[in-house]
Amino acid sequence: MSRILVTGGAGYIGSHTAHVLMEHGFDVVVADDLSRGHRHNVAPERLHVVSMQDTAALTELMTTGRVEAVIHFAAYIAVGESTREPELYFNNNLSGSLSLLTAMQRAGVKRLVFSSTAAVYGNPMSVPISEDAPFAPVSPYGESKVMVEKVLRWLSDLRGLKSVCLRYFNACGADPAAGLGEEHDPETHLIPLLLRAIRAGTPITIFGDDYDTPDGTCIRDYIHVRDLAEAHVLALESLLSGGESDVFNVGTGSGYSVMEVLRTVEKIVGKRVPYTVGARREGDPPVLVANPDRLQRSLGWSPRSSSLETIVRSAWEFEQKRAAAG
Ligand code: UDP
Repeated sequence: MSRILVTGGAGYIGSHTAHVLMEHGFDVVVADDLSRGHRHNVAPERLHVVSMQDTAALTELMTTGRVEAVIHFAAYIAVGESTREPELYFNNNLSGSLSLLTAMQRAGVKRLVFSSTAAVYGNPMSVPISEDAPFAPVSPYGESKVMVEKVLRWLSDLRGLKSVCLRYFNACGADPAAGLGEEHDPETHLIPLLLRAIRAGTPITIFGDDYDTPDGTCIRDYIHVRDLAEAHVLALESLLSGGESDVFNVGTGSGYSVMEVLRTVEKIVGKRVPYTVGARREGDPPVLVANPDRLQRSLGWSPRSSSLETIVRSAWEFEQKRAAAG
């Protein structure tokens, strides 16, 4: 049984991926400093509370644990925060990754799946976006991911460290049966905020309805976190069977507007979402939709749980459990 180190495995996408990896028969160890993740997302015997900056501890963990490959999620993800605190983002996301890569080199671990983002494309010149679109990030967050992707290209050639970078579009949904879902603090993502607006009765602000889209609100490609997790498993299996370094978009190829998501939430929950329309949020491109052909062709991936109804239903179930648990 291959042992896989999942960094950031106490976070949202990391914890779902760790869960799906175990369903596929992998042995998982998690490294997380718990600065943003949650202890309750990981079984205690799998959790190592360690900073990505601690190269020696990561080396030791990989060497003694006989780790075969790494899936690297540990990073800060809030675009707005990254523009206010760029040093924090470059330090955590870039230096943390360099430290991990050094530890991998020392421990002789040569396979990595890296958690990247559609934010590497910035405001794309055309949609759907394919992987050969240029890097044009518009935030320190996006830039930090570009930088790591570039480092990985060099290490693939110079060190034989084979990596797959997965560029996520809008991760959402939950796995309520596993007790996993979105619990960011503060929460900034659309679907949990819509659900909480209903629960709390306080309006959510829609960030602009004057975009050049059919209903004036932004269009995004929403991908269920479980489908995203499956993409990591396929990427890992490809690397473990000798596959080359590559990059893939992970999205469905279909876009939905903010208002379409809001109406779906109303349909699933059976209540109106209180909302107001506010100003545009800085840095929001009108339309972000993936061209996922490469991932489908190369790794045989296809989304199974990413209809908007399935996503919202799973998120609502999780939100209710979370609220009941206090
Ligand atoms: N959005 C919104 N109000 C909110 C949060 C998000 O109108 O309180 C919009 C946002 O402008 C974007 C979409 O919902 O068009 C998805 O935003 P989210 O922050 O979930 O993901 P992002 O696209 O930024 O990765």
